[in-house]
Amino acid sequence: MKIESVDLFYLAMPEVTTEADGSQDALLVRVRSDNYEGWGECEAAPLASIAGYLGPMSHGICRPVCDSVLGSEVNDPKDIRRIGLEIEYNSMDLLQAPHVFSGIEMALWDLLGKQRDQPVWQLIGYHRTYPKLPYASMLFGDTAQETLEKSRAARSLGFQAVKFGWGPFGRGSIEADADQLQAAREGLGPEGLVCIDAGQIWGDDVEAAASRIPALEAIRAHWLEEPFHTGALQSYGALSGRSSKVRLAGGEGAHNFYMACHLIDYGKVDFIQIDCGRIGGIGPAKRVADFAASRGVTYVNHTFTSHLALSASLQPFSGLPEHRICEYPVAPKQLAVDITTNHLRPDNNGEIHLPDAAGLGMGVNIAGLSRYLLDVEIMVQGTMIYKTPSLE
Ligand SMILES: [Mg+2]
Repeated sequence: MKIESVDLFYLAMPEVTTEADGSQDALLVRVRSDNYEGWGECEAAPLASIAGYLGPMSHGICRPVCDSVLGSEVNDPKDIRRIGLEIEYNSMDLLQAPHVFSGIEMALWDLLGKQRDQPVWQLIGYHRTYPKLPYASMLFGDTAQETLEKSRAARSLGFQAVKFGWGPFGRGSIEADADQLQAAREGLGPEGLVCIDAGQIWGDDVEAAASRIPALEAIRAHWLEEPFHTGALQSYGALSGRSSKVRLAGGEGAHNFYMACHLIDYGKVDFIQIDCGRIGGIGPAKRVADFAASRGVTYVNHTFTSHLALSASLQPFSGLPEHRICEYPVAPKQLAVDITTNHLRPDNNGEIHLPDAAGLGMGVNIAGLSRYLLDVEIMVQGTMIYKTPSLE
């Protein structure tokens, strides 16, 4: 199959706020070939990613991603990897390249799976999938009381694990953070898993992060996520030695395989969290899952948007039974809900299963998306290089 077209759709909620909620907009990708089509979703800022796909070449190794994609043959998983490697070389100076290719790469797996009538998890080498225990992923409330209510609500929905992140956490006093942590634990009850996401708030300040360890230990936090900037490996490594009980998690900021490996080897994280919409797609994420397993580190998806992105992000570790919990966006914006016609809901045991259907197993809700579609045109020297394509 030759890649005939790649269409990028910039979707957004009517109002986009400063809340750390990535489900407020989306860059949806459609790839077509031989009467088949595949769908994917980028995690990064839509307009910058569109420019990365088709902006004019800046120089020989700063070429738009489309140069390495359009017209390429995709008949085998190896072809998807080859296209990814071409982009890594041809667009090595274009930092947006892995972000936009992530959504295209997902769509290529979806396309290939549909053409072969196989689920993606089979194409990447698994013989079966194992259910995952979802943690309800939420932002901290503005107050501890609000966090308590959110945590209780997650418990009443049947969640056995929660994660709270961002919001006021790490911005005020140690006592205020301790109150937030207690609220998260109290709402879920004594049994469940409570994960905490600091959202990089401490930059590279090890002492600021370490001052929260007693409160994290007190609530038996399952992990402390992203205390630092993704690249602050020394800080991660230093903090990892400060508590035998609080384990570190990170990796959503990794936009290539090597960044994730470094976080494991030098940052000493116990959980590596990968977003397929950012790291270059499902193939690089599967490499990370294999590497993590070889190091005794637990692989976890990072997903805060649609169930198309969720299906993609569950594929790389779907065949690894010991890597048991998964991030589950519990309160995404309506746009993210409306992207797909089907959803990956917890079963009666509260577990999530990947579809056995071909490709990513998700239907895209064409009719429901037009109201979110932004009308965009990009002109260079009087020539239109991008115009919002039709969803039909
Ligand atoms: Mg996070």
